[in-house]
This record gives sequence, C-alpha cells and structure tokens, in this order.
Amino acid sequence: MPLSKTSRQKLQTCHSDLIKLIEAVAETEKCAVICGFRGRYEQEKAYYEGKSKAKWGQSKHNFKPSHAVDVVPVPLNWEDIPAFEKLGEKIMAKAKELGINIRWGRDFTNLKDYPHFELTEDK
Ligand SMILES: [Zn+2]
Repeated sequence: MPLSKTSRQKLQTCHSDLIKLIEAVAETEKCAVICGFRGRYEQEKAYYEGKSKAKWGQSKHNFKPSHAVDVVPVPLNWEDIPAFEKLGEKIMAKAKELGINIRWGRDFTNLKDYPHFELTEDK
C-alpha cells in the first residue's frame, strides 16, 4: 500500500532511518503517518491539550530531522487497540530486521502512546 501524499510529506521531516523503516512497513501494511517533525507552536499545543507529556525541546518530534514518527493503522479507529498493536509489532519487527533501534510509545510508563515510535540513542 503506497503511503498517501500527506503521509509522505510528514515522513520526509523524519530521520532517514525512520523514512526507510516506515516505507518498508508500508509495502505490506495499510498505515498513515500523522506526525513527523513538530515545531514549537505545535509541541506546546500538544502539551497543553494533554496529547504529549513533553514541552518544546523535550520531545524527539522536536529534533530536526525528527527522531520520532507517529504512525496509525488505516482505516483509523482510535478505539481499535488490537489494530495498533498489530501494526506496532510489524514496525518493531521490521526495525529489528533493518538494524534500527527504536522505542515504541506503547511501552512508555507515563502515557501509552500507541502511534509513537522514536529512535533510541544507543546503537
Ligand atoms: Zn509521537
């Protein structure tokens, strides 16, 4: 399934490893990229709306290029947690296959963030 134009534009704001990873996953999975790089205004808005625990500069979405990407299953239904789990497992498996170290927002202890995947520093 090719990514939509909007998804590709968002993905282009991300680190090359994330681009490589999500493009590979999108070959077999129906998914969409809803967030790549997040600017100062967007980050603060997300923080005040409770969508992010991070203030400006604390999120990997604020790196340029972005070290975090938010990916959702298509069709999108926020209540369908199993669909997020399934897509997440595929992304984690593909990352391992490509040798890319990432962390899944589902595994965050403070706020489970199912669509969120970020690069880890350790290589
Ligand atoms: Zn995120």
